Amino acid sequence: MVSRDSGDLDLLNPARATDPADRTGFTSTGHLPARGTVSGLLRDAHATYATLDDGTVADYIPSLAAADPSRFGISVCGVDGTSFSIGDAQEAFSIQSISKAFTFALVCEAIGHTTVREAVGVNNTGLPFDSVMALELNGGSPRNPMVNAGALVMITLAPGDSAAAKWQFLQEGMSRFAGHRLLLDVDVYESEAATNHRNRALAALLRSYGHMSYDPLLTTDIYTRQCSLLVSAMDLAVMGATLADGGVNPLTHERVVHPSVCRDTLAVMATSGLYQRSGDWLYEVGLPGKSGVSGGIVTVAPGKGGMATYSPRLDPAGNSIRGQHAIRSLSRSLGLNVFASAPEPAPAPGTQTP
Ligand code: GLN
Repeated sequence: MVSRDSGDLDLLNPARATDPADRTGFTSTGHLPARGTVSGLLRDAHATYATLDDGTVADYIPSLAAADPSRFGISVCGVDGTSFSIGDAQEAFSIQSISKAFTFALVCEAIGHTTVREAVGVNNTGLPFDSVMALELNGGSPRNPMVNAGALVMITLAPGDSAAAKWQFLQEGMSRFAGHRLLLDVDVYESEAATNHRNRALAALLRSYGHMSYDPLLTTDIYTRQCSLLVSAMDLAVMGATLADGGVNPLTHERVVHPSVCRDTLAVMATSGLYQRSGDWLYEVGLPGKSGVSGGIVTVAPGKGGMATYSPRLDPAGNSIRGQHAIRSLSRSLGLNVFASAPEPAPAPGTQTP
């Protein structure tokens, strides 16, 4: 067991130093299994689910429709920086909604646990990621940062007086999570920018409810850019491992966010990372995760590492089908479910517990 005291780090950020929720210690337990075991289990999961052809590729963003449905990659990165990959783990695709988890972390780092909760909320909507009804049912509150409305509000809260400054903050921050500069997929960006009427409507509706403090169209444009950043499953595994490692990138050793920000980000991923399927996901996998409509899923085993999959065939909620199966299987075989416990051995007869 590794115990880390966060007290000294709190002093680095006055917004957090005054927040009692961020004054607790941090505990990580356990490790990933041995190298050979992880790579064998990865191979098994890939072979088992590569033949699953259920689901369809997203086509409401025209350029996503061109994705090859047969692609399938899995990558795991431990907090010690060791990584394991199989299949199309280096294939680049647009990060889409997975960006929401990292934008949340970066903005939470900048403005603090309590402010983001008050501005956006941390409860699941139970409705699709682009739901207008969810806003109307909740007095214009996005409810959580893992749906489009919540992600739009998070962008308004990002540091920077101009759209360019906010975008620079987000692109540089996400690149630090990945350990190298993440670039924009210009085709995906232009394709989504030409068709994202619904997101522009969500931003305008948020504005009408007084929840959008920055220009709605500029905010939607930054959101579209962040969704168009190119990543691979290998990148996402490193980004997840950074969240698993108290905010330190295990490859570059750079501190990207504070451990308390990882804790908060993982909490919202656990409750809302797979939209209205988040309950099913947590029940089956027992780990925080975040999916995107291009077919990626990032999963975090706190204190142990990050796992990521890429396969563009989606369920009706917009979550990769092979990805969900593969990660459920790996969570079980690698022993990662955070809710699983084994009973403490009974004391030997005649011994006294203190
Ligand atoms: N850019 C996409 C959208 O706004 C992201 C959605 C997703 O990945 N679920 O529709």
